[in-house]
Amino acid sequence: MSFASLGLNADILRAIAEEGYSTPTPIQTQAIPAVLKGGDILAGAQTGTGKTAGFTLPLLQKLSANPKVVTGRRPVRALILTPTRELAAQVFESVRTYGKYLPLRSTVVFGGVSANPQMMKLRGGVDILVATPGRLLDLVQQNAVVLKEVEVLVLDEADRMLDMGFIHDIKRVLALLPKQRQNLLFSATFSNEIKDLADKLLNKPTLIEVARRNTASERIEQTVHPVDRNRKRELLTHLIKQGDWQQVLIFTRTKHGANKLTEQLSTDGISAAAIHGNKSQGARTKALDDFKKGAIRALVATDIAARGIDIDQLPHVVNYELPNVPEDYVHRIGRTGRAESEGVAVSLVCVDEDKFLRDIEKLIKRDIPKEVIEGFEPDPSIKPEPIVLGRSMTIGRNNGGGNGGSNNGGSRRPTLGAKPKPKTAGNGGKSSGGNNPSAKKPQGATRRSKPKKPVVKIG
Ligand code: AMP
Repeated sequence: MSFASLGLNADILRAIAEEGYSTPTPIQTQAIPAVLKGGDILAGAQTGTGKTAGFTLPLLQKLSANPKVVTGRRPVRALILTPTRELAAQVFESVRTYGKYLPLRSTVVFGGVSANPQMMKLRGGVDILVATPGRLLDLVQQNAVVLKEVEVLVLDEADRMLDMGFIHDIKRVLALLPKQRQNLLFSATFSNEIKDLADKLLNKPTLIEVARRNTASERIEQTVHPVDRNRKRELLTHLIKQGDWQQVLIFTRTKHGANKLTEQLSTDGISAAAIHGNKSQGARTKALDDFKKGAIRALVATDIAARGIDIDQLPHVVNYELPNVPEDYVHRIGRTGRAESEGVAVSLVCVDEDKFLRDIEKLIKRDIPKEVIEGFEPDPSIKPEPIVLGRSMTIGRNNGGGNGGSNNGGSRRPTLGAKPKPKTAGNGGKSSGGNNPSAKKPQGATRRSKPKKPVVKIG
């Protein structure tokens, strides 16, 4: 199967060839002809399957094959909604890359940066608009964009949009669109909420499901290096230098920790930058660009900032600190081993984090191989200490005995200063909301099903 046989035009094929893609991925093989045919689509596809090109390529083809004759400002003909600004920026990059030989105009809008330059671009008229819902609505309210001529709507990572509490924003956007249009809904998972949305939004959709890729934890080589808490930084520098790692994404639990580690790595002669929620969008974009083009070797990130980062063939991911939410581990290591490439994920684990490690191993249903690095053998006399996650939450205060069962809140995401949410609060030890009787759910119930709006509402 080739891209040419899917019915794409020469200008698009040229751009694809320049990207080095020779064969379409399974989602592309199914989605491209289906989108070109014109009906609605419900596609189950995770990041890393090539889904972005799966909707972008046929979209470009359709718009360029039917140019709209306009007098005055070009109307938005395709609207792509994404949950986060990082994803919006990446999708826009794909639109630009694959559409570089086409006479179509596109732009991206998201929150967290000044709206004025975005308004200016919109004023010039664009055919394709990539947007996060919140900023899009702001711009509509300011009459900077009109959506009544949208022909194709794409909801990318719809499950994450719902997780992040965007359902009302999405509904408000839908109300601004013409009734007659093509809808493409992409989602990694099919919860009841997604099914509800699909029922309301889609008209006799073609269902596209690609075989799930092997899970990140099956695909990626993982190792735990046991080490003392105050020797992690030394070990990290050792690993990067010994292994001559040129591009490594490092996760810390806190923003402060990310800043501190970045400085220390720089002192050790390893060029590094931090990316987290306290950094301006400009600083984040620059750090990511520098990292992608190899100007810096290490990018130090917190979980939330790293969501949606898509870097081709990222070879190394390091958990400098294990996440307290086990699912975050899977998301973190999923940053490596994209597309067909294999990745390596290492975790530097000190005695304080034993419970986190057990929770992670339970989630991925396997033990992660442990390897003590010579010269960094942990000192057995060091006792576990509680982990402070911020002003309002401490984990593991009573788990020194090794059973770790005293703080059920340890596997929950702290609400980062948000209002207490009774159902997601921990056992009430240190976090707020502890008087909720339903707080003590079994460990297996920690999957992220609750809206996380207060944590990350971007756009
Ligand atoms: P996505 O699932 O859209 O996030 O894409 C995952 C990665 O696969 C991106 O880095 C793309 O550049 C890459 N990719 C997309 N389509 C292909 C293809 N047909 N062949 C090789 N790589 C691809």
